[in-house]
Amino acid sequence: MTTLVMATGNSHKLREIREILKGTDFDVVPMKAVLEDTSVVEDGTTFMENALKKARTIAARCGCPTLSDDSGLVIDALGGEPGIYSARYMGEDTPYPIKNQALLDRLKDVPAEERTARFVCAMACVFPDGRELTVEETFEGRIADEIAGINGFGYDPIFYVPERQCTSAELSEEEKNAVSHRGKALRHMKELLTAL
Ligand code: IMP
Repeated sequence: MTTLVMATGNSHKLREIREILKGTDFDVVPMKAVLEDTSVVEDGTTFMENALKKARTIAARCGCPTLSDDSGLVIDALGGEPGIYSARYMGEDTPYPIKNQALLDRLKDVPAEERTARFVCAMACVFPDGRELTVEETFEGRIADEIAGINGFGYDPIFYVPERQCTSAELSEEEKNAVSHRGKALRHMKELLTAL
């Protein structure tokens, strides 16, 4: 088995990646299991720059292959906001019902056809010998007119999925993983890792 360090403190992401890499040669461990200092400043200008910086920094510190991701919500009518600042939008500690309502308020005069949006997930795997694998996937949808659903997290209650006629917070975890930016990126990365 090859130890694959996951550069995240998020137990939800760790569970997802473990589930998808089950049956492969990779044993996924969280970065806090192998490092004391897990801090990385996310100062990139794109999702991929941030994912690569996290993976390169943690791989250099621990000497193990390291996987990281950076994701967020891109709203076309807001010039791409909140984008790479999705987690920090209106402050990291502001509850999502408040952030979500603020985004709906900013979009109140925007018609349905201009409410296009997508979740983006950039994922990078960096090896101590310098090899790097990268993938980026999207989950296309629209910003809903009102908050709906209690599943998922973050911006899911305002992210309307036209094919399913509901928000991503109204999908089960399994249904969301099948179509989501992170689910697609993880499966794509699995293909690249198992082809090595
Ligand atoms: P990250 O953990 O640095 O990748 O930050 C991702 C941020 O983007 C989260 O804190 C959410 O605000 C938002 N986000 C990313 N993926 C999703 C999703 O699947 N549902 C809802 N919000 C998401």
